[in-house]
Amino acid sequence: MEELLELYQTMGVSPAVYEYGEKAIKKLEDRFKAIDQVAEHNQAKVLWAMQKNRVSAACFAASSGYGYDDFGRDNLERVYADVFHTEAALVRPQITCGTHALTIALSANLLPGDELLSPVGLPYDTLQEVIGIRPSPCSLAEYGVTYNQVDLLPDGTFDYEGIRKAINPKTKMVTIQRSKGYATRPTFSVKQIGELIAFCKEIKPDLIVMVDNCYGEFVETIEPSDVGADMTVGSLIKNPGGGLAPIGGYIAGTQECVDRCAYRLSAPGLGKEVGANLGLMTSLYQGFFLAPTVTAGAEKGAIFAANLYEPLGFRCVPNAEESRHDIIQAVELRSEEGMIAFCKGIQAAAPVDSFATPWPSDMPGYNDKVIMAAGAFVQGSSIELSADGPIRPPYAVYFQGGLTWYHAKLGILMSLQKMVDAGLVTL
Ligand SMILES: *Cc1c(COP(=O)(O)O)cnc(C)c1O
Repeated sequence: MEELLELYQTMGVSPAVYEYGEKAIKKLEDRFKAIDQVAEHNQAKVLWAMQKNRVSAACFAASSGYGYDDFGRDNLERVYADVFHTEAALVRPQITCGTHALTIALSANLLPGDELLSPVGLPYDTLQEVIGIRPSPCSLAEYGVTYNQVDLLPDGTFDYEGIRKAINPKTKMVTIQRSKGYATRPTFSVKQIGELIAFCKEIKPDLIVMVDNCYGEFVETIEPSDVGADMTVGSLIKNPGGGLAPIGGYIAGTQECVDRCAYRLSAPGLGKEVGANLGLMTSLYQGFFLAPTVTAGAEKGAIFAANLYEPLGFRCVPNAEESRHDIIQAVELRSEEGMIAFCKGIQAAAPVDSFATPWPSDMPGYNDKVIMAAGAFVQGSSIELSADGPIRPPYAVYFQGGLTWYHAKLGILMSLQKMVDAGLVTL
């Protein structure tokens, strides 16, 4: 204990901040145990899918060029489909990020004259240009796909009456974002998403429902695909990549939807048949294998952060006690200085680029200046310990990740230390 304290002190965490953290952790034992149980369930689920599909060394072979007959790639897609309980999955390094995966899912399944409905308010920042909410070349709007939105009620629940009115003969697809993204609304549980899907499909049974599952994978023992989503979509540099995937995205869903996604990703007629794996298969398989426990560590970090900052008077979403449905923790720091101090702490605790200083700047796809702290092995990977947020009221940082719980813990302690050092907090 003494030695750890000394080591932490060498790294910049004062005994006062450390003690404050230990007090918070003492109260979290039962919650951490529950998280471990979810992780155990999900570990078994992933393992069983790998065993069932006879994953072997042959799956890790590199392919190049067209990537025809790439057994490892095709088998990984079967593993994903079995974990998500879907007919098919598209899991590719050619999908460059989460936004790209979502763009493929949307544009592959919406045609001119169709309407897209978001019954959960404004989608994630980068999707606003994809849809054309903010005009952009090549947006869905340019291709004649219209967009409709129903906001959440003030208490964060679904506006069922509004949704009923919004669904019309043109409505082809419904998009549901599981995680709060850069908003301070609640993240939905998979069960809530299931209720919303059932409601929409009762009104119009042939609706295609897509769920933006970013940051939600493996936080619960079920996924949106278990409750009626036709496409469940996410990024491999978040939860399901387990920190090892260096790039990629996935779409798990019905055969018909996923086939169309493959045609959109590559070309009509080619679909899933092309797409070399470039030697990335070991990372994608092993990352998926680690993802349940990595996600659990990140979730513990999120809960720890809320239990550290909320008693100090900063609003946390979710709050210190609430149940969790993603790994994101928003902490409203109420000033740009607060955001900078918090991010400096996360950066200083990183294994990579710990000497860098995060600063607010313009980012493609985002409307406001954004500050980002990440000292990651994979650039921009937000399953690794990271904090970011747009510089706008209520000056919330969105904190997430940590490949291990201990790293997440140190990062949060360091963020508090920087807040204390900047005179923004007194313990
Ligand atoms: C991260 C994220 C995305 C996609 O972001 P990328 O940076 O393109 O991977 C989309 N929706 C939500 C809710 C997200 O958190």
